[in-house]
Amino acid sequence: MVDKRRIKIQKDGEIKSGPIVYWMQRDQRAEDNWALIYSAELAVKSGNELIVVFNLVNDFLLAGLRQYYFMIEGLKETEARLRKLKIPFYLLTGSPGENIPEFVRDVGASLIVSDFNPLKNIRKWKKEVIEKTAIPFHTVDAHNIVPCWESSDKLEFGAYTIRPKIQRKLPEFLCEFPGLPVFHGQKLPDEIKWEYIYESLKVDTSVKKSEYFLPGSEAAEKMFSEFLSAKLAGYEAERNDPNLKGTSDLSPYLHFGQIAAQRVALEVHNNFKSMDSRDSFLEELIIRRELSDNYCFYNKDYDNFNGFHVWAKSTLDEHRKDEREYIYSAEEFERASTHDPLWNAAQREMVVKGKMHGYMRMYWAKKILEWTPSPENAFEIAVFLNDKYQLDGRDPNGYTGIAWSIGGVHDRAWSERPVYGKIRYMNFNGCKRKFDVEKYIKVNS
Ligand SMILES: Cc1cc2nc3c(=O)[nH]c(=O)nc-3n(C[C@H](O)[C@H](O)[C@H](O)COP(=O)(O)OP(=O)(O)OC[C@H]3O[C@@H](n4cnc5c(N)ncnc54)[C@H](O)[C@@H]3O)c2cc1C
Repeated sequence: MVDKRRIKIQKDGEIKSGPIVYWMQRDQRAEDNWALIYSAELAVKSGNELIVVFNLVNDFLLAGLRQYYFMIEGLKETEARLRKLKIPFYLLTGSPGENIPEFVRDVGASLIVSDFNPLKNIRKWKKEVIEKTAIPFHTVDAHNIVPCWESSDKLEFGAYTIRPKIQRKLPEFLCEFPGLPVFHGQKLPDEIKWEYIYESLKVDTSVKKSEYFLPGSEAAEKMFSEFLSAKLAGYEAERNDPNLKGTSDLSPYLHFGQIAAQRVALEVHNNFKSMDSRDSFLEELIIRRELSDNYCFYNKDYDNFNGFHVWAKSTLDEHRKDEREYIYSAEEFERASTHDPLWNAAQREMVVKGKMHGYMRMYWAKKILEWTPSPENAFEIAVFLNDKYQLDGRDPNGYTGIAWSIGGVHDRAWSERPVYGKIRYMNFNGCKRKFDVEKYIKVNS
């Protein structure tokens, strides 16, 4: 049984006769998916059919072919996996606010279930669907291990405030997933013609698919199993060196929900007993990741300067007029044509691979603050580039990581200096002390 605390009833009502429709959005997988399990349980209990539907938006937050390819190939696999489970999967294209109400009317649905996403535009779609339909609507947090509203009912100040709250509830929520009930006799639709889906896309094709990351749940499972066997033990020592492939590289898969964070956490937790690397990996995967959802869920300004704390806004305000040694436009940043070979290398790593190393992301965003006329401009450029090139862009982790770098979110005040004020500073020499900077530049030249 799915824990009731994982579910938010956004529109209450009796479940009558008619299919239970799981509107899959963030958690694009057939396995280890609380929203699917919940929908399946309700279908069995109410004697109704179960249907999964995904609505592909043609122009989502400026995502381009790189991200759409990764998502569509993942969805292809999800369709095939659901088909094996005799669960019908439908794909709609266009506006979810129009399509989902029409779809649930056409199939005579009795309930809509969706997965949780704290981002504003997704919440707006859901509101629109709720307003336009007469049936109940339930949201399931299938992304966080401790559901976002259960770990905290307010905006948290930092990792140190949310950590004890999550840790207290973790034993209750970090459990094995129940299997899906077996479905017989459900009518399956024709297989989706994916080539038509690609043809109908109206997205920017200038950023090509990544040759470095294969999409889909199978690729995610392989990546994770390699991480477990070859990298986890050295994670603590190697994760901050961008020359070493010491991190899991799971963020694109976690972002598209092609693998469940809870599956990753369970395997790590159960198979590796106390060791520094295990604990520091789980700190990133659980605490930092779920803190990002908290930030976006409880702060409507997660994607701009206004979301920063008062201390950060005032220190940045005090330094608005400080002279900048360099100023670059969005285009100059995008072309990796700054004076700093290390920054340019990080930008190129992202452009070429579709994923910048986590340590370099901090340096990259902080330098954008240093080399733009205002923190607002810096935020805008960082989000634009991050979302255009990273496979894991448009994620609460991205908005929060940028807000941490530029606006001190979840951080503390440091000693004051030009432009940054009391926001934590990073520089080239600091990187030089941490890793072989020349090697990183050469590899990403
Ligand atoms: C400026 C900036 C921008 C960022 N943009 C994104 C983004 O667009 N999408 C994204 O998923 N992450 C983003 N991050 C967070 C982090 O850098 C990436 O999640 C991480 O580098 C992904 O690599 P990995 O999967 O190999 O990480 P690992 O080190 O193997 O960590 C495992 C998982 O833990 C989570 N995680 C790790 N570090 C963080 C963190 N600092 N905050 C929250 N969760 C974390 C991720 O889900 C990650 O996949 C950003 C950070 C900064 C500073």
